[in-house]
Amino acid sequence: MIDARQASADPGYITQPLEAPGVSGYLPQGGHRRRDPFSVSVEREPRVSVPTREVVCYECNKTCSIPSAALSALCPHCFAHLNTSNVTVKPGTHHLHVRTLGDVKIPANVNLSQLDVVCHNLSVAGCVGGSLRATGTLSLSGHAVMGGKIIASLLVVQRGATAEVKPGISAERAEIHGTLIGRLHARGAVHIFTSGQLTGSCSTASMQIDPGGRHVGVCETLNSTL
Ligand SMILES: [Zn+2]
Repeated sequence: MIDARQASADPGYITQPLEAPGVSGYLPQGGHRRRDPFSVSVEREPRVSVPTREVVCYECNKTCSIPSAALSALCPHCFAHLNTSNVTVKPGTHHLHVRTLGDVKIPANVNLSQLDVVCHNLSVAGCVGGSLRATGTLSLSGHAVMGGKIIASLLVVQRGATAEVKPGISAERAEIHGTLIGRLHARGAVHIFTSGQLTGSCSTASMQIDPGGRHVGVCETLNSTL
């Protein structure tokens, strides 16, 4: 049974003083000093550090730092719009002109002759021709056949791969685990591993051939101080 006086004393809702944080004229715990009700105290939010990564601009070849999660960025040196997406070239594609800071993959069932690709890491297993430039690693696998102007920072011929390049490849360094047929120009070192074979002339600062590895062709040693 409900007491009538208790029921009438209970309005059914609770009232609380309206107090906005930082704008209140009230003092906590019975203070008597009045605050300016129009003074707003703004708390500084902690600065959030965005993870970044170093990339090489494919337009001006300068190194710059962009947010790691950015889908695109602006080069601070040449103000070029930089694409960061990864691209897989599909059979029958007409998208032959690719500029990206990401990676490009050309699978084995692709046969294209007029590619124009600038990317970071480039993986080739098919037959391609054109202008190809990888600021990172150019990885050749399967039975890759390449023609045109091919430039890479690091060339890696995968174990078991047979790669033909016409007329040749320019790279900073080369690691040959499989078979490479064609001319190789490396400003740095060339390493032919036990399972590797290079057939073609080679100009390099230094060449290392592991037992079992082979080089068939002329080797020209570059002056590494140049
Ligand atoms: Zn740039």
